[in-house]
Amino acid sequence: MVGAGPNGLVAANLLVDAGWRVLVLEAQATPGGAVRSDREVYPDFVHDTFSAFYPLAVASRAITDLRLEEHGLTWEHAPAVLGHPFGDGQWAVLHRDRHDTAAGLDALHAGDGDTWLELCRTWDRIGPALVDGLTSPFPPVRAGARLVPALARTGGLDTVRRLATPVASLGRELFSGPAAQLLLNGNAGHADFPLASPGSGVFGVLMTMLGQTVGFPVPRGGAQQLTEALVARCTSLGAELVTDAEVTAVEVRDGRVAGVRTRDGQSYATRAVLADVSATHLFGRLVAEEHLPARVVRGMRHFELDPGTVKVDWALSGPVPWTNRPDRAPGTVHIADSVEEMTETLAQVSSGVVPHRPFLLTGQMTSSDPTRSPAGTESFWAYTHVPQPGETRRDAADEITGAWGHDDAQRFADRMQARIEARAPGFGDLVLERRVLGPHELEARNANLVGGAVNGGTSQLHQELVFRPVPAMRGRASTGLPGLYLASASAHPGGGVHGAAGANAARAALWHRRIRR
Ligand SMILES: Cc1cc2nc3c(=O)[nH]c(=O)nc-3n(C[C@H](O)[C@H](O)[C@H](O)COP(=O)(O)OP(=O)(O)OC[C@H]3O[C@@H](n4cnc5c(N)ncnc54)[C@H](O)[C@@H]3O)c2cc1C
Repeated sequence: MVGAGPNGLVAANLLVDAGWRVLVLEAQATPGGAVRSDREVYPDFVHDTFSAFYPLAVASRAITDLRLEEHGLTWEHAPAVLGHPFGDGQWAVLHRDRHDTAAGLDALHAGDGDTWLELCRTWDRIGPALVDGLTSPFPPVRAGARLVPALARTGGLDTVRRLATPVASLGRELFSGPAAQLLLNGNAGHADFPLASPGSGVFGVLMTMLGQTVGFPVPRGGAQQLTEALVARCTSLGAELVTDAEVTAVEVRDGRVAGVRTRDGQSYATRAVLADVSATHLFGRLVAEEHLPARVVRGMRHFELDPGTVKVDWALSGPVPWTNRPDRAPGTVHIADSVEEMTETLAQVSSGVVPHRPFLLTGQMTSSDPTRSPAGTESFWAYTHVPQPGETRRDAADEITGAWGHDDAQRFADRMQARIEARAPGFGDLVLERRVLGPHELEARNANLVGGAVNGGTSQLHQELVFRPVPAMRGRASTGLPGLYLASASAHPGGGVHGAAGANAARAALWHRRIRR
């Protein structure tokens, strides 16, 4: 296993379960990839360095089947799942109880509550099969066999059309008031879909309904605890983890994988390499192009990364002073004034413009899990997307160069903080310390976050499902080089902490071994 991110560790668990000898080589000093936490921002504060909320983990069988609760993992939930302040002190709030969510939406716009409950009922019928389908290797035959009759019972083609509708239009079609539309659109904004693009609707519904049904849970003690549980499980069964071990080459002999070499010159012989590595690094760098099928090499010429990211962590001396703060604190808070503003901002990012009014995803971590910082304080973060370094054409506010050096990152963090301050006057007075991770800092802490890309490649439809990461792989983990499997978020089903790409790679390796025998 190359890389100890969540996909790599899920794969390692499945392989030791099948009786394989497993060695996990991780470049960084700490395992976890983008599922890590640290204490470097301020004394007694835990900050999740990258990802923070895990609805996909608790919905994905690749992770739930591992029963990580038996290895030290405990999930915590914020009092409310998600909030979105808008207008003059109003809030759209997603609660874990669908009737509470519906009542809040209805109070803001009569009729939207009933539509919300109808959407929940549709999800009850199709959601589980849809999630299974999206997290299975392609083609998802078994989940598909469950999904088709479920769709037929819930409106058939009309439901399929709705799911295919871009999220901005879908929100308008379903709801009359802005609150529910903001929930759907904000959740689609977790991936890099322009809100008027196909695929954004199904993703917005998926994330929103996961929030409604399983919540946005966090591991007690920090994201690192999810990683620790994955590591504890596989190492207790015999897997070996070596950190500070960057793999620099996959060795190929007689047309198949023979081993790997690390930066310190050490070689390890093996018949199978599962790479929890970005496709851009695996194909052509760790494995020379001459060893790869020509169609994979050609496909990679058109491979698209997702945008860059700027993430800011704050240690706050008190809770965020939101205007008209909801009674029950949401773990996640989205910041955008309207769907129109969000649409414009995301379109700017995808066309190489640094947005003037970035759409922020923020996390109130102590509100979600009281162990994250001393009582009465808040461990808080926000992140947003920006064009990839090197692809920035201009800054809408004319102050960022787009090289994303220290000054660019700090100026942009000021812009993000000003957006929070506008919704939470007095925020700046509570700041004990702030840490800014621009695209380059993110990549330095995890090589898979190329230019700050969080999803291992764009999530847009032309690079999803059967096209991920390249059409030649048909949505499968096998790379075409015998013994080499792509196990990272660059593989189907893409970014997020669901472990499915790792599970798919492990199953493919096990299957090929069985055939050879
Ligand atoms: C800022 C941020 C916020 C996010 N928020 C969320 C969230 O809230 N919820 C969610 O579900 N998802 C979130 N994501 C996305 C999610 O974290 C990733 O999609 C997920 O971690 C991908 O898992 P992975 O195992 O494929 O890769 P990674 O987690 O990136 O792990 C890859 C590992 O491989 C190692 N590696 C790479 N190359 C080599 C090499 N040559 N040799 C040895 N080791 C190597 C890396 O050091 C790293 O440890 C977020 C991501 C970021 C960056």
